[in-house]
Amino acid sequence: MSWETVIGLEVHVQVNTNTKAFCGCSTSFGAEPNTQTCPVCLGMPGQLPVLNMEVARKTALTGLAINATINLESKFDRKNYFYPDLPKGYQISQFSIPIVEHGYLDIPVADGEKRIGVTRIHIEEDAGKSMHEGLEGVSHIDLNRSGVPLMEIVSEPDMRSADEAVAYLKQLHQLVRFLDVSGADMEKGQFRCDANVSVRRPGEPFGTRAELKNLNSFRFIKQAIEYEVARQIELIEDGGSVVQETRLYDSTKGESRSMRGKEEAHDYRYFPDPDLPPLRISQQEVDGIKAGMPELPGQLRARFESEFGLSSYDADVLSQTRELAGWYEALVAAHPADPKRCANWMANELLGRLKEQGSDIVDSPVSPQQLAGLLDRIADNTISGKIAKDVLDAMMQGEGDADTVIEARGLKQVTDTGSIDAIILQVMAANPEHVEGFRSGKDKLFGFFVGQVMKASKGQASPGLVNERLKELLKG
Ligand code: ADP
Ligand code: MG
Ligand code: ZN
Repeated sequence: MSWETVIGLEVHVQVNTNTKAFCGCSTSFGAEPNTQTCPVCLGMPGQLPVLNMEVARKTALTGLAINATINLESKFDRKNYFYPDLPKGYQISQFSIPIVEHGYLDIPVADGEKRIGVTRIHIEEDAGKSMHEGLEGVSHIDLNRSGVPLMEIVSEPDMRSADEAVAYLKQLHQLVRFLDVSGADMEKGQFRCDANVSVRRPGEPFGTRAELKNLNSFRFIKQAIEYEVARQIELIEDGGSVVQETRLYDSTKGESRSMRGKEEAHDYRYFPDPDLPPLRISQQEVDGIKAGMPELPGQLRARFESEFGLSSYDADVLSQTRELAGWYEALVAAHPADPKRCANWMANELLGRLKEQGSDIVDSPVSPQQLAGLLDRIADNTISGKIAKDVLDAMMQGEGDADTVIEARGLKQVTDTGSIDAIILQVMAANPEHVEGFRSGKDKLFGFFVGQVMKASKGQASPGLVNERLKELLKG
């Protein structure tokens, strides 16, 4: 009998506010250690936290985007534990009443879509950072991150494979970036995931779960879950049983190890934070946030298909990020005659070249207006699509606009009958036996002549005209 995997995810997303959750310190990344701190986020006794309402608004916006309930009154609790990077001895979080509950995300799966429940989204503060490396036996603490606002997004145990978990995370990652509630840069720790994993025989109740911590890339998440599933199945089939524990995945070794078991599990002794009043948000304010909701990825994709006639594949590629979509719309604005040509050239040619260079659309050396200038020259038959690819290469190297490159390299398409006839006659003179063959009925040789003429013109002869003149001259 086969096994079924059960996964629930807890995702910590850094909310992109300028200042921290409960004080006015900057949240900017990469500053000198401990330069962005104050008595509140250093945990000095007697200091009072004050909520940055921007955090509540952005969390509510995220909740609305996943069709969740927004609790007009929620509250803050203290999650108590001792750790050197947590100077207060507790983390401000939301336990009994979070600001967002009961939402869902529809994720793409092989045979359509699957709905994954989102149990809750609560607001909390980040801890500081301990540094041990290269410090010869001592540890340093950087509290710049202490008090940085996070949303914790908790899913229902609705996923049934590592692929579904990754699809959910990618969907969520794209969503928070579209909503502009988080930079979600995984390398900077702005989007972090803990995976709860268990296995069961289909139809049985849920099995005991292990929680995998420290998953900071989509690839590692998939690997870590697959490793964990195999470990649990083997354990059970060998007559053992899974114990509830927290495990750390080591991506270099490709395996996980136990970090702490249930006995050592934290007892956080949550209790309401007496320093913070209930978090109230009015229905009017919620309605206002809803009214300001930006276009979401699915809506954008659908609009690209209907407004510009794009294939669902191109629409999907070009709506992956707001930056890509904005670039495409600027391109269409500059070359409105043919949105499909715009999509082809952007998705296949430009993005392909950027990928090879390891760079991103925001760093593209060619602007939407410059690419539009190139497409204009294809549209008016100045150059062929084939030559245009060489021109784009040159533009990527900084050789200037399409017109500049075409001029400098002498790439204009040859469209006068006289020059083309001259090339054709040359090719015919060099291949008398093929001329003979063609005239005696070997029609297939026509392609040979087209190829030779295009080659002799270095690709610059107008293909239409070459065909037309060849038919005429080969007749004899
Ligand atoms: P905790 O407070 O210990 O983190 P929760 O009940 O809040 O526990 O669950 C945390 C996460 O674990 C949620 O995402 C939930 O969907 C998931 N989860 C709960 N039970 C299971 C299970 N048996 N297998 C896999 N995931 C589970
Ligand atoms: Mg947990
Ligand atoms: Zn501070």
